[in-house]
This record gives sequence, structure tokens and C-alpha cells, in this order.
Amino acid sequence: MKFLVFACSDSRVNPAHILNFQPGEAFEIRNIANMVPLFDKTQHSGTGVAMEYPITKLNVENILVIGHSRCGGIEALMSIEDDAAPNKR
Ligand SMILES: [Zn+2]
Repeated sequence: MKFLVFACSDSRVNPAHILNFQPGEAFEIRNIANMVPLFDKTQHSGTGVAMEYPITKLNVENILVIGHSRCGGIEALMSIEDDAAPNKR
């Protein structure tokens, strides 16, 4: 497997279409705002497992993170006041 791709869930952004991947060429992980969580065995386990499999079993050669314009997830993230950030409590 050549690529592990993080992309937004937004249907306007389709990595296989944009990058012309052929079947079997890329393993895609899609979530809102193409977030890549910190490594933590007790949190973010869904994305963590989705990352661990292609890295350890499929031997991906490249990891891509694809952002896009007008991303609602990034817009929502950027609108959070600094004092409202969850880890600032
Ligand atoms: Zn988006």
C-alpha cells in the first residue's frame, strides 16, 4: 500500500478522485476536518486502530493529510474562544 490518507468527511473532498488513486493504492481515514489525533491507547481508539493497521500491516510508504477550503470543521474549530478550549479547564 503506497498511501495512508487523512481527509475530511466532507463529500466535496474525495481523495481517490482528486489524487486519481487506483484500487489498492491508498488507505483512507476520513473524519470532520481531517483530524489526526495524538497517540493515546486509551483515547481516540477508533482513529488509532484505523492508523495502526495500514502502518503496521500494510506498510504504507507515505502519509498524506489533505485539508480543503471552506471546511466547516476547521471553521468551527477556529471559532472556539481560547477560554472555552476543553483542556484549559
Ligand atoms: Zn472539511
